[in-house]
Amino acid sequence: MEPATSTRNAIIAAVAVATFSFVLYFRPYFIVGLLAGGLIGVATYWVLRAREVQHVRRSILIFFSTVVWAGFFAILSWIGWSSLTQWVSDHLRVYYFQGAPMYGTTIIPCTRTLPEITLGLAVYGSESQPGAMLHWPTTLVMLIMVMIPFVATAVVFGRGWCGWMCFFGGTVETFIHGTKERWKLRKFRATFHPPRGELFLGGLKEEIKDVKYGIAVALLLVALGALVPIICLVCWTFLIQYLWLGIAFIAIVAVFVIVLPIMTKKRWFCILCPVGGMINLVESLSPFRVRVDLDKCDKCYDCMHVCHTYAMTPKAIEEKGKPNLDCTKCGKCIEVCPRECIDLYLRGTNIKIRSWFFPFAIAATAAWYVWFVFALIQLIPELLPI
Ligand code: SF4
Ligand code: SF4
Ligand code: SF4
Repeated sequence: MEPATSTRNAIIAAVAVATFSFVLYFRPYFIVGLLAGGLIGVATYWVLRAREVQHVRRSILIFFSTVVWAGFFAILSWIGWSSLTQWVSDHLRVYYFQGAPMYGTTIIPCTRTLPEITLGLAVYGSESQPGAMLHWPTTLVMLIMVMIPFVATAVVFGRGWCGWMCFFGGTVETFIHGTKERWKLRKFRATFHPPRGELFLGGLKEEIKDVKYGIAVALLLVALGALVPIICLVCWTFLIQYLWLGIAFIAIVAVFVIVLPIMTKKRWFCILCPVGGMINLVESLSPFRVRVDLDKCDKCYDCMHVCHTYAMTPKAIEEKGKPNLDCTKCGKCIEVCPRECIDLYLRGTNIKIRSWFFPFAIAATAAWYVWFVFALIQLIPELLPI
């Protein structure tokens, strides 16, 4: 496969990403900003020149997932294991409307919420107290504000969020790739590896892929009715308060995050994830779209077998010339196609935009996670080495 782009594009993109990171986060810390911006720039250049973008994407995703889980354990150790249950029940008792009583904390070790806390800090200053009990969000305006980063990312990248930015997707991906040659139950494994051109269990996924929309609608209604953020309804901290919900959550994680991904090399949790379903609803707003050049395609289905969300199917390739909505824009199929007939396009045009999408995705990923680390440092002063 040809390199993703020209050297000129690579350098421009690398500098743009470095500048983006620097300006956004590191103005007060010039040297740190320079170093971080440079590192991100080098990483971007590396991605753009690499013949195997997947190694880089996967490394970034798994690295940042590890950072989030490390942050999670740091917070857990900070609040104390013994007070976990109390904290969990407290942090959800936060009201979201102006004038309502305000109590409880919401310090959730999650890339979706921690950056939003620091956004609240930036916007409302005194209402949030770094390193102390955080009261967030306290007004409807603030609720809207905290949603902006996530909604903006989802609108721009669509399900590209899932391929490049979501720490939970990165966790699932760890199980897809970390166990490649170590599966011992060979007979069982053979059962779950479909022959070429066929889908897992005869296309079971085709039958169940819309389940996530049902889950999403139900959660939306519950969230509206109970006036809690929808993300909290699928957050482990909410679920473990109730015995059976906690058991169900652990079972779902075991099956869809660990067992099925190991067996099939697919992101099963993501196929059913309601957040992914919600992002699909705004996917058509994203300017980036994967497409197949049907004139060059010889129906080898390598792309279908490598796709981790079953977004490439025979029907999608032959009838639509593009993957279905579950495409996470990861680029695996682009890399594997022997005839080089898959690419990322500017939606509705024939302009190939891969060389800009990758650095842009890395910049956004860096933005989320750098913000996350900064939030962690603000929340837990003990983490600071000084
Ligand atoms: S589908 Fe859900 S868990 Fe998977 S990457 Fe997307 S948001 Fe994350
Ligand atoms: S890998 Fe390429 S040639 Fe093979 S089916 Fe997919 S798009 Fe067609
Ligand atoms: S269709 Fe291609 S880019 Fe989309 S998720 Fe599947 S492998 Fe990744």
